[in-house]
Amino acid sequence: YIELKDITKSYHAGNNILEQINLTIEKGEFFVLVGPSGSGKSTLLRMIAGLEDITDGVLKMNEKVVNHLQPKDRNLSMVFQNYALYPHLSVEQNILFGLKAKKVSKAEQQKRLKETAEMMGLSELLDRKPRQLSGGQRQRVALARSVVSEAPLCLMDEPLSNLDAKLRAQMRVEIRRLQKQLGLTLIYVTHDQVEAMTMGDRIMVLNDGEIQQVGKPITLYNEPANLFVASFIGSPK
Ligand code: ATP
Ligand code: MG
Repeated sequence: YIELKDITKSYHAGNNILEQINLTIEKGEFFVLVGPSGSGKSTLLRMIAGLEDITDGVLKMNEKVVNHLQPKDRNLSMVFQNYALYPHLSVEQNILFGLKAKKVSKAEQQKRLKETAEMMGLSELLDRKPRQLSGGQRQRVALARSVVSEAPLCLMDEPLSNLDAKLRAQMRVEIRRLQKQLGLTLIYVTHDQVEAMTMGDRIMVLNDGEIQQVGKPITLYNEPANLFVASFIGSPK
């Protein structure tokens, strides 16, 4: 479904942030990307989203090369780390924002809004402004906005990093449930080993722009490819 072939990225010539990334992500897969700060996770996500040029290599979606396709034509949604809600718009307007540009009918918008708000526990909060919400509620608005878009591919960059432990645990379950229910392909960046191990169908460990290992959580745990993976995953060597 999503294929990266020899993807390389440099912001300055001669200094590769990502080195020859080769990877295939299946339809409906929950794919987790982990690695230390600065290892290139967000850069990789932004390239898939089309928000960042690909220096070298080929990116394919559904067997088509999309290297130069505009972000809006890639049929994906993205949840950023800071949620990126519009402060002057209500919860409802925030959730529906992307649909206006796509010319979805008013009736269809309201239908999707109602369903999604219910699913995310936001029905009572639609008239509020983001500043009148808790962190977890804001997080859900960002997720709801991504869900109403009904894009088959969703990219999430550390979406739970600002939440407390309890909410994080709750949202892990919620995101996972949603992803399975809607059959989404999800690429999920996190620093959090627990998130990676409990949510991912597969995990990719990145260090310094290079893939260390890709595999099921249990495989990384039992058969880490190297010490870096072992210590990152927390396996007993
Ligand atoms: P974190 O976990 O801290 O979010 P990350 O894995 O997401 O880290 P990236 O944001 O992808 O890391 O950054 C990878 C490397 O690329 C870093 O060394 C960073 O300084 C560099 N970098 C990121 N964006 C730019 C940019 N626009 N111009 C130049 N260098 C950049
Ligand atoms: Mg990042």
